[in-house]
Amino acid sequence: MTTRRSFIQIIPLAGALALGAGSARADAPKVDEKDPQAAALGYVADATKVNKAKFPKYAASQVCSGCQLYQGKAIDASAPCAIFAGKQVSSKGWCSAYTKKA
Ligand code: SF4
Repeated sequence: MTTRRSFIQIIPLAGALALGAGSARADAPKVDEKDPQAAALGYVADATKVNKAKFPKYAASQVCSGCQLYQGKAIDASAPCAIFAGKQVSSKGWCSAYTKKA
């Protein structure tokens, strides 16, 4: 049973965790193109450098900021991506998991 006192003690902790999660995201390291997962997906921080022979589905207008999995705003230079947990991708990047925003 949750008492009123224990409920009041939980609220500040939940708030601190939420703030902590937010700052961790802002400070998260960028994805390294040489990281095995990034390399397997053909991730590049500059979409104009996509290996078009290896990833023919790439189209010139595709960039991370227009991808469904990009978790930032269009104006952010980099942001977290659902594929690369705990890291940030460049807004101008691309990988083969690209899915156009609805
Ligand atoms: Fe960029 Fe989308 Fe690939 Fe993430 S899944 S790296 S946002 S193209």
